[in-house]
Amino acid sequence: MPADGTRHRSARRGADRADGALPTRDIPSPNHGPRRNGARPDIVVLHFTGMAPDAAAIARLSAPESGVSCHWLIEPGGALVRMVDEDRRAWHAGAGAWGPVGDVNSRSIGIEICNTGTRPFAAPQMDALESLLAAILSRHAISPARVIGHSDCAPGRKADPGPRFDWMRLARRGLAAPTPPGCAGGEIAPLLRAAGYTGSDDADACLAALRLRHRPRARGPADARDRGIAAGLAGQAD
Ligand SMILES: [Zn+2]
Repeated sequence: MPADGTRHRSARRGADRADGALPTRDIPSPNHGPRRNGARPDIVVLHFTGMAPDAAAIARLSAPESGVSCHWLIEPGGALVRMVDEDRRAWHAGAGAWGPVGDVNSRSIGIEICNTGTRPFAAPQMDALESLLAAILSRHAISPARVIGHSDCAPGRKADPGPRFDWMRLARRGLAAPTPPGCAGGEIAPLLRAAGYTGSDDADACLAALRLRHRPRARGPADARDRGIAAGLAGQAD
């Protein structure tokens, strides 16, 4: 990396603040590149690390050979780890898609939350996530409707942040889309696509992704409630 680039990134570091109050440490990951075609972030993707101990997750996200990274990681105690500058393209969403966006990495900020996927998310961790999200949404003028899970942009492939994640809490704080009320008719597949679920051609996988986040106890074929949620989300999508 030329010295110019290094200076540029250093200058940006001060801008990528959490909220000024959260304890933050830097563990830089080399796994990033330029955002393609001058893209700016307008999506936030939430992940769980899905492994223990947490130090192993951090080591993986910063190891050159892993080819994965994130912008921010939140430890169980609520401390933040800054791994990639927000102006860079971190490698967290792989082949995901959301609505018309096929290169989610170029258009997003990726947040990894330390959790194996089987435990509740710790309260200090959720507090830190709320502060960090509020700062990111403000900094980049991102709509809360564009805060999504990895499972939303990779139906059938990814399940994080998973059924234990408290999406309702984020929605109450205006930091994510609330689950729309009501029921609707029609075909489920186009409604799911209009709601943003374009990461798979398999409507069942997209339905499972929608339910994981908005209706985790639902089973069986799509019903009027699923269609109502998808139609409501479609109304919020850009
Ligand atoms: Zn993930």
